[in-house]
Amino acid sequence: MAKPPLSQPLSAPELSDRQFRRMFHYLPIPTVLLGPDKRVLAASQSFLEHYGLGRDEALGHRCYEVFRRGQEPCPPKICRFAAAMEGQPGLSNFHEYMDPLGRWVAEEIHLSRLTDEDGRPLGVIESVRDISEAKLLEISLTETNELLNCLLNSMVGVVVATDLEDRILFVNHNAQEVAGYLPEELVGKSLRGLSPAGEYERLRDILEESKGPVRGLRSKIVKRDGTDLPVLVNLNYIYRNGMPIGILSILRDIRERMEMERHLNSARMQVMQSDKLAVLGRMAAGVAHELNNPLTGITIYGELVRESLPPDHPAQADLKRIVDDADRCRDIVRDLLDYSRQSNTQLEDLDLSLVVGEALALVPQDSLGLHVQVVTDFSPVPLLVQSDRKLLRQVFINLITNAFDAMDGRGRLTVRTYADGEGLRCAEIADTGGGITPEHMDKIFDPFFTTKPPGKGTGLGLSVVYGVLARHEGKISVKETGPQGTTFLVQLPAQAPKTLLEFTTRVHQDDPDSEEIG
Ligand code: ADP
Repeated sequence: MAKPPLSQPLSAPELSDRQFRRMFHYLPIPTVLLGPDKRVLAASQSFLEHYGLGRDEALGHRCYEVFRRGQEPCPPKICRFAAAMEGQPGLSNFHEYMDPLGRWVAEEIHLSRLTDEDGRPLGVIESVRDISEAKLLEISLTETNELLNCLLNSMVGVVVATDLEDRILFVNHNAQEVAGYLPEELVGKSLRGLSPAGEYERLRDILEESKGPVRGLRSKIVKRDGTDLPVLVNLNYIYRNGMPIGILSILRDIRERMEMERHLNSARMQVMQSDKLAVLGRMAAGVAHELNNPLTGITIYGELVRESLPPDHPAQADLKRIVDDADRCRDIVRDLLDYSRQSNTQLEDLDLSLVVGEALALVPQDSLGLHVQVVTDFSPVPLLVQSDRKLLRQVFINLITNAFDAMDGRGRLTVRTYADGEGLRCAEIADTGGGITPEHMDKIFDPFFTTKPPGKGTGLGLSVVYGVLARHEGKISVKETGPQGTTFLVQLPAQAPKTLLEFTTRVHQDDPDSEEIG
């Protein structure tokens, strides 16, 4: 046959009806042709095989009998047949069922109208696409995503994924509880904006230098209310095909941990302090014993010599100085003994407020100063403690004396007693003096540490307070200090302290000499 000239357009070969029918029969995609009454006019071989039907079971039957093996037409809400007959394009139906082998099958059925040469509708062609695998994949992807979300949201800490430009791609729900941000308001924003100035850059530099995961960095983030939150940060790059594409940060709120560390440190300091004081106490007791008798001798003989000389004798002034200094030394010896081993210990039920009041009355008037206002705020109910009256009084005499010294004759002394929420008996001695400097803070309870001029301070006052309270299973702490003043807080248990009971018994039974000392 001669080839048509190249200038003529190529046309599809004319196919006979029979050829069209055969072509339809061999269509690889399961396809049916439905008449206007929804009956199957033709079905491809692939359609019959797909549904496991013989020709007779398909041809002449209505679509719902073939697809769903049902007797009832599909509800109008889901049936697209009428719309397809009207010529609506792009129609499809989703269909799922269990096949005879018990497999779950999902199908998408596309509908399109078939018309005659004049455009009159002849029926609807429905072709079936098995989308089971795609659906299963989609479901498993959704499930994996959900699982991942659950995991990320159940993780302790705020999990943040950013791209390399610091833009937040994902953040878990903990962001709300920890820092007050809703995850959706953070996505797309820069993580830099959540860090105090320079902090984010510091962490990035560390990550870049480490070239691997970084754990346990202490940092801060800015919470929604503008306050800083201390956090512990773990960082790592997110890799795809070996190339970093983002950064994963896990931030954990460490407020509780820091609080615990603070308590632990202070407990450690207290243990060290009490060990140190115990050693010094034993030493001090020995020295005090040795000094007490010669000092008594100096005072007595000094007084005797003074009395034997005329009042205007030139040696009078020097002798007075000797007696006064010896007295002062005796005071120090008494402090040392109080600090080290409480002589004359007698436990009794005492009202803490009364003891504090007694101490206040006993502090020498000249140290009260002319311009010091004394404010008392005592508990309206008795605050019973079991203690040795003399020792406890000494605690408050020392604290009140220090408070007056700190104010240098001008200011306000506030003395308060109360029971706290845990039933501890508390007393606060607050002054408006210049406060304790940070470098002195960890030394003030050391024996012989003083910032007072020579002759004024011995550095034993707070050591005595510390030692006495430790034996009472009580505590002394600086509640606050600064240029506005200092508040010391004394806390005592209500019940008899075991340490003191043991000590009292021991003093009375084993140490009869103790009565002479004090
Ligand atoms: P002293 O009173 O003999 O110096 P302390 O042991 O009582 O010995 O006190 C030690 C030091 O603690 C004082 O020298 C002072 O520096 C400081 N201190 C104690 N109480 C206060 C206070 N209320 N305000 C300021 N500093 C204080």
